[in-house]
Amino acid sequence: MTRTVTGRTDHVVVVGAGLAGLSAALHLLGAGRRVTVVERDPLPGGRAGRRELGGYRLDTGPTVLTMPDLADEAFAAVGERLRDHVELLPLHPAYRACFADGTALDVHTDADAMETEVERFAGAGEAAGYRRLRDWLGRLYAVQMRRFIDANFDSPLGLLTPDLARLAALGGFGRLDTRIGRFLTDERLKRVFSFQALYAGVAPSRALAAYAVIAYMDTVAGVYFPRGGVHALPRAMAAAAAGAGADLRLGRAVTRLERSGNRVTAVVTDHERIPCDAVVLTPDLPVVHRLLGRRPRRPLALRHAPSAVVLHAGTTRTWPHLAHHTLSFGAAWRRTFDELTRTGTLMTDPSLLITRPTAHDPSLAPEGRHLHYVLAPCPNTDIGPGARAWSDLAPRYRDRLLATLERRGLTGIAAAVEEECLVTPADWTAQGHAAGTPFSVAHTFAQTGPFRPRNLVRGTDNAVLAGCGTTPGVGVPTVLVSGKLAAARITGTPRRPRAARGGRR
Ligand SMILES: Cc1cc2nc3c(=O)[nH]c(=O)nc-3n(C[C@H](O)[C@H](O)[C@H](O)COP(=O)(O)OP(=O)(O)OC[C@H]3O[C@@H](n4cnc5c(N)ncnc54)[C@H](O)[C@@H]3O)c2cc1C
Repeated sequence: MTRTVTGRTDHVVVVGAGLAGLSAALHLLGAGRRVTVVERDPLPGGRAGRRELGGYRLDTGPTVLTMPDLADEAFAAVGERLRDHVELLPLHPAYRACFADGTALDVHTDADAMETEVERFAGAGEAAGYRRLRDWLGRLYAVQMRRFIDANFDSPLGLLTPDLARLAALGGFGRLDTRIGRFLTDERLKRVFSFQALYAGVAPSRALAAYAVIAYMDTVAGVYFPRGGVHALPRAMAAAAAGAGADLRLGRAVTRLERSGNRVTAVVTDHERIPCDAVVLTPDLPVVHRLLGRRPRRPLALRHAPSAVVLHAGTTRTWPHLAHHTLSFGAAWRRTFDELTRTGTLMTDPSLLITRPTAHDPSLAPEGRHLHYVLAPCPNTDIGPGARAWSDLAPRYRDRLLATLERRGLTGIAAAVEEECLVTPADWTAQGHAAGTPFSVAHTFAQTGPFRPRNLVRGTDNAVLAGCGTTPGVGVPTVLVSGKLAAARITGTPRRPRAARGGRR
């Protein structure tokens, strides 16, 4: 049994209606708590937000949705089912990977289909390697999920379980790229199973092999698209929370916390004072530390993940070689990660994620139009251009991106754009994200598991953190887990989910 907050916990205020806050709210409601959710934006979703642009409906954040079961768990806590709220389409292929040499590979989550595709792409030897890799990814996931991801830790000693030995035996503490190289020799294929390190904010050559668990989530467990866009998920979670009795207060920024001794007694917004028995804090760490009036001491300053530029382009045409998600790799690889994580320069030979949500939901664009979301990783503002520099850089970078896309087969894209919006580290900074990155604290070894900022707050008896800055970390699946773990810190051991309405579960 891990530690919990002390004292009364009847009424919990959750600050932030992002995915972590909404997950915490649903799990708390399921455990019988009264819950108030306070969100500064007019919409729920946080980073998984929505923007309307000339008849186009944009997802502002995540586009690669994996592990929907974790969202379902949050719905189940209040007796609901995800599938009754959101239509999830499994994506086949999960990604299309396009390489600088003109070759392309479809990443299938079905084992046989992927083996056939790998064989076509790189021969029978690599196909056999893929089978072994897939098996390893499955075992890695099984060991990590229950013990290291979906678990609260009170100290690093909590790691000392037989699963730690299992993880070590699986090579989880080696380097990601070396481990992937034990299964595959084709450089292009290796990229397909190691680029996910960037989601954790680290280069594959420096990431723990344990982070291959992300490759399990997208290449094995599968990628889904919610009809209506990824924002449909937080919207549905907010509706389920409201349906289960949560008081959702949108458009209210929390300005301070009232305290009495070691307890937070009320959450104060720009509109009102809300008394509480306990509080869950989900904004970025600097905001949380300001609200708590203290910043925990750490031997080393926190290192932030790289950031991203996102170009949203509403276009009059699309390109047949694009799948729903297309990974457009440059020829450079190590140099690209060096630029993003060490030298702080913009990618000279970019690797890009191009998402075309209108491939599965044309209603996200006006009739006959298409939406393209181009994500270009870039250095964060700690090591790269600062927020001010981005105001000058942005138009030139936009032109560079379009020129790259044009060269990579999106012929005529510049002329086809009728609505657009470029989001840069300057915008992430304006939203209050430290180091100009929406990807929070990087998952270096020193910032992983029990070494990541903890969800229990020292010196405050009834405050818990959730969200990407705390455990287990960044990404939709992990922040959904973080909300559940935060709720468990308040209610004790997680309860079994309630039966879904009508006894369907
Ligand atoms: C461009 C982009 C692409 C991404 N792509 C993917 C992807 O494909 N797949 C994936 O799994 N993950 C992806 N991610 C990461 C994922 O979206 C995030 O890790 C996750 O959504 C973070 O959720 P959160 O609840 O921790 O934080 P948030 O969503 O930021 O929630 C925190 C909430 O707190 C609110 N808040 C802040 N301050 C206050 C205050 N003072 N008072 C009241 N409310 C406040 C904020 O408005 C916000 O709603 C992406 C993120 C971005 C930005």
